[in-house]
Parts: sequence; C-alpha cells; structure tokens
Amino acid sequence: MERQNIPELFGSMVFDDRVMRARLSAEVYNSLRKTIDENAKLDVTVAEAVAQEMRDWAVERGATHFTHWFQPLTGVTAEKHDSFITPSPDGGVIMEFSGKELIKGEPDASSFPSGGLRATFEARGYTAWDPTSYAFIKDHTLCIPTAFCSYSGDALDKKTPLLRSMQALDRQARRILRLFGKEVKYVRTSVGPEQEYFLIDKEMFEKRPDLVYTGRTLFGAMPPKGQELDDHYFGVIKPRVTTFMEDLNNELWKLGILAKTEHNEVAPAQHELAPIFSTTNVATDNNQLMMEVMQKVARKHGMVCLLHEKPFAGVNGSGKHNNWSMATDTGVNLLSPGDTPYENAQFLLFLCAVIQAVDDYQDLLRLSVATAGNDHRLGANEAPPAIISVFLGDELTAILDAIKTDSPYQGTEKVIMKLGVYSLPRFSRDTTDRNRTSPFAFTGNKFEFRSLGSSNSIACCNIMLNAAVAESLRQYADRLEKAEDFEAELHALIKETIMAHERILFNGNGYGEEWVKEATEVRGLSNLKTTADAMPHLLDPKNKEMLKAHKVFTETELHSRCEIMLENYCKTVNIEGHTMVDMVRKNYLPAIEGYLYSLAKATATMKAVSDRVKCNYEISTMERLSELTDHILERTEALEEALASLGECGDIIGTSEAIRDSVLPRMEELRKFVDEAEMLTSEKCWPFPSYGKLLFSVY
Ligand code: ADP
Ligand code: MG
Repeated sequence: MERQNIPELFGSMVFDDRVMRARLSAEVYNSLRKTIDENAKLDVTVAEAVAQEMRDWAVERGATHFTHWFQPLTGVTAEKHDSFITPSPDGGVIMEFSGKELIKGEPDASSFPSGGLRATFEARGYTAWDPTSYAFIKDHTLCIPTAFCSYSGDALDKKTPLLRSMQALDRQARRILRLFGKEVKYVRTSVGPEQEYFLIDKEMFEKRPDLVYTGRTLFGAMPPKGQELDDHYFGVIKPRVTTFMEDLNNELWKLGILAKTEHNEVAPAQHELAPIFSTTNVATDNNQLMMEVMQKVARKHGMVCLLHEKPFAGVNGSGKHNNWSMATDTGVNLLSPGDTPYENAQFLLFLCAVIQAVDDYQDLLRLSVATAGNDHRLGANEAPPAIISVFLGDELTAILDAIKTDSPYQGTEKVIMKLGVYSLPRFSRDTTDRNRTSPFAFTGNKFEFRSLGSSNSIACCNIMLNAAVAESLRQYADRLEKAEDFEAELHALIKETIMAHERILFNGNGYGEEWVKEATEVRGLSNLKTTADAMPHLLDPKNKEMLKAHKVFTETELHSRCEIMLENYCKTVNIEGHTMVDMVRKNYLPAIEGYLYSLAKATATMKAVSDRVKCNYEISTMERLSELTDHILERTEALEEALASLGECGDIIGTSEAIRDSVLPRMEELRKFVDEAEMLTSEKCWPFPSYGKLLFSVY
C-alpha cells in the first residue's frame, strides 16, 4: 500500500472546523460556532451561506449527491441520496444545494419502526441538521448528520434523545460548578468506545446461511482448538489482517475518525479497534460510521467483518467498552481528582453523582444494552454479568470508607478525610484498572461501561447514563444551593450518598456464582437476565418520571421505544428460529441421511463378501446417527410449533416472553443434537464449513 501523509489525509473528507474557518466568512463562521458550542439558534442566512460552501467543497472532492444521514431505531444508519443537479434554462444542469436542503429533509420514512408513533400522528417524518457533528463525504455523497423526528415532534431516532440527555447533564453540571465558583460555557460528556469484531473468510461466510441471515452461527461443533491457549490475545497480527487494518485506518482517518489502538482479542479471528475519545454525540456518529466502514473494507479484502455479539458458541463473543467522562469547555475532566482539596471535593461530588446514578437506574443501564445478541454474552463468564455494579478500586474505596466512617484514611499520610482540607492522591491506572469482570469500572479519570454488545449503538447507553447522572446532580444542586454552610452541607451530602449507595460498589469477581447470590439476595440488586426481562422496566414509573423531567423522552416516545426494542428482540430470534428449521430440513437431515445410506450400503456390501467382518464402526455410528436424526426431527417440530404459536401471544410483552421461554430453549436443544451428529459424520458429507474452517481460515 502507498504511504500516506497522515496529517494531510486526516479529516480530508470532513467539513470540519479547519475547513469552516478557511472557507466561511468570519461572520458566518462565528455564528455557526455559536450554534455548535452554545446551542444558539441558527440563522437562516447563515445556513444558506454554509450550504453554498459545503456544496462547493463537496463537489471539488467529487461528490455528486447529498444525503441526510440519520439513525433510526433499527440500530443502523439510514440515508437517502439526492443529487445536486438542478436543470438550468439552457437545457443543462447546475449543481445546487440550498440552506433549506441543509437544514431540513423529508425522507419517505414510513417503513422505519416507530412503535405506533406514526399510526397515531403523522405518517411522514423529517430530518433536521445537527451542526455539532461535522458533515462528511462518503462514496461521492455529502452526508449531513441529522436528527429524525415525526411531524408532531416525537423523536424517531437515537440522536435526538442523546442530544437532549447531553443538554440535561450540561444544565445540571453547570449548576454544581457554579456552586464551586466556576462559570463555564458548557459541560459535555466524552466517550471513547472500544470496538470488538471478528474477521472471517468471505468464501466461508457465504457458505453458512446462518451467518448470512442472522450474523451468527446457529450450529457448529467445537473444533479441537478454541481460545484455550490464549495465543491469539495480543498476538502477532496476520498479514492479511494487517493489510485490512492499514486500509481501514486510512478510510477512517479520511473521515476524521481518530482510530488509534488495534490488537488481536481473546478468541481466534477476533480483533479490537479503539479510537481516541471525543464528544459523545460525535463519538456516537463516528462509531456508527466506523462499523459501516469496517464491514465495507473487510469485503474489499475478501473477508467479512462480524459485529454480532456472539458469532460462535464456545469462544468469547464481542463487546464494546464505553469509556465515559464529563469535561468543561476548557477541557477540565470532572472525573479527574484535582490538585487542591477544594477540587477534590468537587471530584468526589461528581463521582458520587455517577455512583448514585448507576444504583438508582441500574435497570435503565441494563436495558440500554439489551438485545437478543447481547443476551448471549452477559453473565456467560466472558462479559460482565447482567447485574450492574460499580468497581472503584482499593484506593478510592478506602477513601470513601474513611469519609463514611469519619476515620483516618490509611493512605500515604494518616489523616481524617475532611473535605476541603486535605488533598487526595491521584489515582494511577495501575491501581484502578485491574478488575475486568466489572460492568462499570472507574479507570483513573473516567468510567468504563463494559456491558455493551459489539453491534449496539452507543447512543442508547449514553442517553441513560447522561440522564441518570443529570438527575443525581439535580438533587445535589437543589440541596446545596439552599445550604447556609456550603462546605458542611457538601461533606454531609457526600457522606450520606456513600452510605445510601454502598450496595452498588463491588470490587470482587463479577463472574463468580457467589456474587450473583450476594448481589440479588443480600444487596437487592436487580439481575435482569434477558431483553424480555429488562426492557419493560423502561416504563417503570420512577424511570419514566426521571426521563420526562429531564426532557430526554416524552411519554409516547418511551412507550414506542419499549415496543420497538422488544419487537426487534422477537424478530431477531424469530429469524434465527426459522433459519435453523430451514437448515435442518433442507441440509442437515438430508446430509446425515446420505451418510447413513453410505454406511448401510458399505456394511451390506462388506458383509456380503465375508461374514466374518463385524462392521462395528459402521453399525455403531449408524445406530447413533439414526437416533440423532429422530431427536433432530422431534426438536425441529417442537421449534416449528413454538414459532407458529408466537402469533397467539397477544401483545409484544407476551411474545417476548414466549421467545425467551419456549423458542430460545428449543433452539438450544435442537442445536445440541445437530452438533453431536456433526462429530459423527464424515466431513465430506457435512453441508456447511466447520467452526475450525470459519475460525482459522484467515492467515
Ligand atoms: P483499555 O485498557 O481499556 O484498552 P485505553 O487506555 O486503550 O484502555 O483507553 C480506552 C478508551 O478510553 C480510549 O478510547 C480512550 O480514548 C478513552 N478515554 C480516555 N480518556 C477518556 C475520557 N476522559 N473520556 C472518555 N474516554 C476516554
Ligand atoms: Mg477497555
């Protein structure tokens, strides 16, 4: 591959601040900047001027079309392309793009899920420009990041509530900072999502209908070698993967995505890519784009990038780590312990806000990562459990303990922790980041939420996290603004919060059986194992009230979202179930039958030649395989029956429970018998590539 000048390449396809500053008039630039930074209303004449420059810039770079790029509730991005061409009087065309076209679009989006929103309101939806996320060029198309709403103003996407949640947090965090004597322009949450994925050979992929239809293997016996040697983790990257990664980095850099760290992961064929963190809204757009580009580049290299949470049973699945913090416009990280005692008190207050938020809204965090795919990982000893808890590390825990009990902190100096008097030590990553089994870990100056599935949009969990932290901060601000003795009140507040929310703090092994017992029976933490269990909690009164109070969701939006997420879960598993039936009836059973026939024929032929041959191998294999085909048939019929009766469950809650209680267990049983048959059948007769071929085919 050609060597690239990276600083020149970086962001070359993005209408970013550098381009705006260079191309827009000072007046237009400043006005747009104010909209981006301070949410100021956008002037129409400004939009017109920006549109002209955007078009010229895009056309210079070969763009012929533009699109409003948005994130409907399907979880993937959507785009509808319009060309810039407008007929000119002389019979030719000119390239046009107006301010109106930049600001607002009206895609015919009636097929996107709306959870009943559009049945009751308007059938159409509209998209609105989000100037806080830069426009970019992809495949000769100028892509304008937009929010997607119904005509009644209800959000039909993931970006709108994300932006609202960021505003809620900004509002409350600034109230707190004001109490510490700090006026800042804004507080924004920042996110760095680490993305895991699998790469497999395209030819192998295409031979597996389960991968093609569902993104995961629904059958497959374990190969002799899995991940037990740990030889893949951080191992030497194979040449074909290296070329892929180089190409991928170039494509991401062009789009202004800060791709930074890449390495092999635990499972064979598994890898990770982490970008440098950015503002949550931009990080979300970039992560969506990154997933898309990964898949596209992999194809170019004759591979397929699997983003499913559990493409292969028996080896680790893929997740996404959502590294999250809050920072001011001047770049001060509010989750970084400061240098002065006063700053430390502020740090501890923000820390408490997160601890309380995670405890009060465990269920919201859990359901924000709930999907059919992710259900296979959480609690399966490869990913954090479905129980949400917070890991702080020994040092910080000792400090909180000392505050709670008014006792000396056994740190470097023996001192009574009185806020506003003593400084806290800085936490090094070494002392905070050792626990990999915690779903929500403090890692020195940020929290890492580790329960996300690899294909999840990070919008969902950040909406809940931002809103929940905004709520803790609101309660604190309400109380502290009224306080006569600020420092005394602050100390009391922090102490009380630690005591009230201690149950969510856990530094031990999150994978252990004992933890499940302690968490649920002693601490009363919730353990929502599946999407069907978790999702309905979105409508719990305490959750609805909080999300509505901070204007993150409206009542109708909440109902529609709950419905859509459950529908998504049901449809996903339904497709998986039907794919299994299809593969069994059309391929597995006929294949086993073919092999049985050849065994039977061989036995008969051999016995005809000599009556001394025993044919032990042929006969025992035949007997077991024949038994297995009976089991397989029986389980297939049971699965078909479960799938057929889904229509009679009534509402979506009933359907999702039937999926959980009857469809998924039957799929599991069916698979067991087919996988056993695979171990007994000649590879030549087996209709699909084995796990070994899928996992070790890329070199
Ligand atoms: P790990 O050991 O988990 O792989 P890394 O040091 O590679 O951790 O960082 C993980 C991610 O955290 C990176 O994307 C990084 O940019 C991000 N990160 C660092 N600081 C912050 C912050 N203040 N806010 C959000 N994300 C951050
Ligand atoms: Mg990490």
